[in-house]
Amino acid sequence: MDSAEYHNALSALTWQIELGVDTCIADAPINRYEVPAKVEKPAAPAAAAPAVDAPQAEVDVVAAARAAAEAAQDLEGLRAALEVYPHCELKMGARSLVFSDGVPGARVMIVGEAPGRDEDREGRPFVGRAGQLLDRMLAAIDLSRAASSDQAEGQEKAGSVYITNVLPWRPPQNRDPKPEEIAMMQPFLERHIALAKPDVLVVVGNHACQALLGKRGITRLRGEWTQASGKPALPMFHPAYLLRNPAAKREAWADLLKLKAKLRDG
Ligand code: URA
Repeated sequence: MDSAEYHNALSALTWQIELGVDTCIADAPINRYEVPAKVEKPAAPAAAAPAVDAPQAEVDVVAAARAAAEAAQDLEGLRAALEVYPHCELKMGARSLVFSDGVPGARVMIVGEAPGRDEDREGRPFVGRAGQLLDRMLAAIDLSRAASSDQAEGQEKAGSVYITNVLPWRPPQNRDPKPEEIAMMQPFLERHIALAKPDVLVVVGNHACQALLGKRGITRLRGEWTQASGKPALPMFHPAYLLRNPAAKREAWADLLKLKAKLRDG
């Protein structure tokens, strides 16, 4: 192998590792989209009428999502429903279903956008750089995704948060969620909120605003309490945006203080 071939092969390998490949199972790639086409069809029953090209009934993927989400009776049931929901192609490229982290039943539920590479690897939301900043922001107002141990009985969840994302699977190359993906996952998100029963929602970034408030424009929306899914909701800058624009941390701090005041005053 000459040097150019070596560097090409190395780039291809690095790219695959970036995508989440961690095991080599064959010498040649398998196109999973083609696999079902090769599966042999079962033989038609002897008396069957000659095959006709019957029109395929179009699946209403949002209605299917709503039915699956509404059937879930608890958070584990909702996770299981997402695991078997077949209509979101993001699942095929993702390593993990990233469902939630933190304390179910916490007063604050944070809704982000979608898992990135680190979250996809770990199966937990907000564990990369943006997540570490989120943890520091929460700590500044005495909140944490860990269950608080130093609270009086019955108050164990007072300083805790529960975290999820609009999309539970990582979009390829961390691209933005598509409107149809948001629409498809929205019934699951709404049900997630209903089952987690937070007192307030913190909606981080434009994509979460789109899913929960039906609008974008985080610079205008942030810091103003509104309603989403029947709960008080506070839009805030996404921590990934704050990493790129540290000057905006000043506004984020003002929003954190509003959240703290709401939790104190009800
Ligand atoms: N950004 C998000 O919106 N969610 C995550 O889980 C990680 C990064």
